[in-house]
Amino acid sequence: MTYHTEKKDRVLAFFREKPDEAFPIEQVCRAILADGSGKSSVYRIVSGLVDEGILCKISEPNSRHCSYQYVGGEHCAEHLHLKCVGCGRLIHLDGRTSQTLEKQLLSSENFELDEGARLFGKCAVCRHKCKSLFAKSE
Ligand SMILES: [Zn+2]
Ligand SMILES: [Zn+2]
Repeated sequence: MTYHTEKKDRVLAFFREKPDEAFPIEQVCRAILADGSGKSSVYRIVSGLVDEGILCKISEPNSRHCSYQYVGGEHCAEHLHLKCVGCGRLIHLDGRTSQTLEKQLLSSENFELDEGARLFGKCAVCRHKCKSLFAKSE
């Protein structure tokens, strides 16, 4: 049990270091498991963290593989987020961009966004994917 908890802490620390990046599960295993054994426990930990809302699952376009990204950051109440509906990626906006958007909406619409609110749309990768589909017919 303590061993499991320790491993969970390491998985969390791994994701927390780079909240703007998504990692395939194989890469998480390589980083966590020194000898490559115990992959199933890493799989269980990661899917548990997804259930807890600490990680999100991202489906990569043009691939059957999934990657995972940390979304439970301590500072996430202080900025806004862009959530891609195509792949599930979460983009953390910087504080200044967040404040500009928040102020703009408050003054033009008298609308106050929730702390850490998520705005939905399509990320660069997914938009590019759409474009390349259209490009075929040109
Ligand atoms: Zn955030
Ligand atoms: Zn996307």
